[in-house]
Amino acid sequence: MTVIGAGYVGLVTGACLADAGNAVTLVEKDPARRNLLLTGRSPIHEPGLDDLLTRTLDAGHLTVTDDMRAALGDPGVVIIAVGTPPLPDGRADLTALWEVVADVRAHAREGTTLVIKSTVPPGTGARVDRQLAEGAFPIPVVSCPEFLREGSALRDVSGAERVVVGSADPDAAAAVGRLMNLSDAEVVSTNNTSAELIKYGSNAFLAMKISFINEMANLCELLEGDIDHVSTGMGHDSRIGSAFLSAGLGFGGSCFPKDVRALQSAASREGYSFWMLKSALEVNDQQRMRFVQKIRDAVGNHLGARRIALLGLAFKPGTDDMRSASSVAIANRLTELGATVVVHDPVAMEKAALELHDVEFAPDPYAAVTGADAVAIITEWDEYKQLDWTVVRNLVGQPIIVDGRNCLDAESLRTMGFNYHSIGRPSHITRWNRRVEDDGVVPVAVDRRITGDVPAEPDLVAAGAAPAGAMA
Ligand code: NAD
Repeated sequence: MTVIGAGYVGLVTGACLADAGNAVTLVEKDPARRNLLLTGRSPIHEPGLDDLLTRTLDAGHLTVTDDMRAALGDPGVVIIAVGTPPLPDGRADLTALWEVVADVRAHAREGTTLVIKSTVPPGTGARVDRQLAEGAFPIPVVSCPEFLREGSALRDVSGAERVVVGSADPDAAAAVGRLMNLSDAEVVSTNNTSAELIKYGSNAFLAMKISFINEMANLCELLEGDIDHVSTGMGHDSRIGSAFLSAGLGFGGSCFPKDVRALQSAASREGYSFWMLKSALEVNDQQRMRFVQKIRDAVGNHLGARRIALLGLAFKPGTDDMRSASSVAIANRLTELGATVVVHDPVAMEKAALELHDVEFAPDPYAAVTGADAVAIITEWDEYKQLDWTVVRNLVGQPIIVDGRNCLDAESLRTMGFNYHSIGRPSHITRWNRRVEDDGVVPVAVDRRITGDVPAEPDLVAAGAAPAGAMA
């Protein structure tokens, strides 16, 4: 088997397939990545991957090369796992994919089956199939999208919940389904385009679920609800489920934002406006700006000369992936508003340094919070949940925590004397009643409990009753 592209998907898939006893050749064109791999070290942070690499390389089941021609020299299964990053207009950039298809066309032997694991727009597999059909011998094309999650990628590949195979050649699809099924997963067999739509539909649906619960959280802040209780209550309904129902800073990473935009773009090319996708993206962008406003209000509405500590930079715990991480938008906006931003992440500092230019990088979380006017939790790493917050209390300039992931224990922090703010949960300080506009966040009402300026209940006034009293 040949896997082309040793990134999060190709590397994990290749190593898991090798661990299952297959002879796997990984083709990687980036020399830095390749050289690290040859020494048994992973170029990405993924729990368990270093051990798995060492094991499979030492056993001779996995080899790493840049020699595409040699790797395609024997008939077998060729798996494309190259990146499909977003173009500025939201479409997926398929340059790397088409380069590989050209190589396969030029060098693959009769008996080869091509598997597309990269996430590609609907219709791509069928186009690749048509191109390869012009060659001297048939090369079946099977679309087999990947559903792994960074941070639990090994578990997700070796224990997948389902394997999706789409092809015009049912025998090839069945063979790839058996090969890729490392657990006893359900195999869904379909055509190329439906397989591609399953991948985009799955990611888009999860992204919408996140945006939905974030909107519910924002409403909770207005109505004095508690999003933790609302999510729990909703999640117990098996038709809804509790996964992806945690309010916070929204979705990021290399997949959700890119795939939602790519699906939206594929729909609009067909003349169809997929409104729910547009809203999911807008809500996601706004959620980050609402958070900046939350920090701003917590420190007294002025960020100039304020020192803000951001704990967590990776788009989620368990990975060093900084692609579309909310930390970048939040740090940039805070610095634009005049704050001094100091950041820390347990594993993503190196990658973050390529994205963040106007921030201070702290060597550890305690250094990051020293003298801070507010500590903001951006990524819910266990390391931050387990910080000694009594020590933090003595290091900070002002005892303000703004928890973007609702991951800390509000009551114990309040007992320690912190002003603790989170998303969609009751705050003792501020009642959120805000509207976000394109150019920033505009307050439309002040905290009515703080001012005591509680409007009368309209129906009571109409009935001639006394205005309602203070709320809390
Ligand atoms: P990545 O950018 O981490 O890795 C891609 C790798 O392919 C890079 O190392 C690059 O150097 C290599 N490459 C590109 N062109 C090559 C060529 N011609 N020959 C050899 N190597 C080449 O990308 P990724 O995160 O692994 O994602 C790959 C695909 O899988 C994307 O389409 C992505 O949307 C999809 N996907 C990603 C995830 C995820 O969590 N990262 C999950 C599911 C699906």
